[in-house]
Amino acid sequence: MSNVHELNYLKEQVQELKDQGVYRVLPVLEAANEAEVLLDGKKVINLSSNNYLGFANHPEMKKAAIEAVEKYGVGSGAVRTIIGNMDIHEMLEVKLAEFKREEAVMVFQSGFNCNAGAIQAITNKGDLIISDELNHASIIDGVRLSRADKAVFKHSDMQDLERVLSEKRDHYTNCLIITDGVFSMDGDIAKLPEIVELAEKYNCMTYVDDAHGSGVLGESGRGTVDHFGLHGRIDFTIGTLSKAIGVIGGYVAGKKVMKEWLLHRGRPLLFSTSLPPAAVGAITKAVELLSTTTEYTDRLWENAKFFKAELGKLGFDIGHSETPITPVIIGDEAQTVAFSKRMLEKGVFVSPIVFPTVPKGTGRVRCMVTAGHTEKQLLDAVRVFEEVGKEMGLL
Ligand SMILES: *Cc1c(COP(=O)(O)O)cnc(C)c1O
Repeated sequence: MSNVHELNYLKEQVQELKDQGVYRVLPVLEAANEAEVLLDGKKVINLSSNNYLGFANHPEMKKAAIEAVEKYGVGSGAVRTIIGNMDIHEMLEVKLAEFKREEAVMVFQSGFNCNAGAIQAITNKGDLIISDELNHASIIDGVRLSRADKAVFKHSDMQDLERVLSEKRDHYTNCLIITDGVFSMDGDIAKLPEIVELAEKYNCMTYVDDAHGSGVLGESGRGTVDHFGLHGRIDFTIGTLSKAIGVIGGYVAGKKVMKEWLLHRGRPLLFSTSLPPAAVGAITKAVELLSTTTEYTDRLWENAKFFKAELGKLGFDIGHSETPITPVIIGDEAQTVAFSKRMLEKGVFVSPIVFPTVPKGTGRVRCMVTAGHTEKQLLDAVRVFEEVGKEMGLL
């Protein structure tokens, strides 16, 4: 019998990944994450980041981060509930709540942490959670941590949601409907107005994870709830500070009592150290920027529309995205990976997304347009799409 400490069972599993052609090697960035990046020693156009507004290397945010480090140090020193709660954390939450037009905001260390902490904190045994089938992995994990029962409805299918509600709602105390605000693999927007109506009809709470909507949709990036004018009718809105905001962190926005409760039962908040000063300083500056100008979101949408129009002319299947997320659907898994590889050889980094992240046979490269791209970079990328598409017989 082999020695378990050699981890042979993991070696076998890793070998299986290699046999299936899905073994990962991480690309290495050698400078800031921008519209053009130095990747594995080569300068390429970056169509794969979540850095929607170009904030990840924003000079004013960097300055704010450095100032925060000088005044507050590099670490917060503790979890927030002990001695890791600084005035800058408090100020950030006030600013974010104002920006989001909600009563209160509770900041976590990441968007993932919000879902890991909030869902289990606000549901109990005897409750029901109803989740869109395409919800993000962190929602799925968050739901697993809850003692509530779970049900899934077909993606954005309101008839199916109502079917679940009419069959099950009566058997439970509270019911929570959870959806992504913007679905990250296709770029479509949740049908929030219809979801809210059903939630009100069946006396359910609503929970929107707006990681890809925050900083993108709504007035100056206030998010999907703002986009639909549904303030006050969504009980819990999750935003991330790691994507459009360009730093790290997440938050739950909603009622004051939500914040009071999460302070006592939001486990990542109670058992994991709070955001470091540099992050808080930079994020606060980002919120200030978005509160004073729509220039960043305007530019993001201009670029997204321009890129989609140019790419659309070539005749690729670009799905039904309603946001800057632009999938180019290739289909076959191996062909998708080969497509991405060839794009990179020609100077464009666009990541392949295949099963199990998306259904089999719907492999795609996912283009993430940002405010930081120039028209020339976008046109160059489109030209490379055309070349590779023709080369591989897809056009
Ligand atoms: C990216 C993402 C998260 C995780 O956010 P982080 O701040 O990167 O941890 C959570 N939910 C959704 C829907 C996401 O797309």
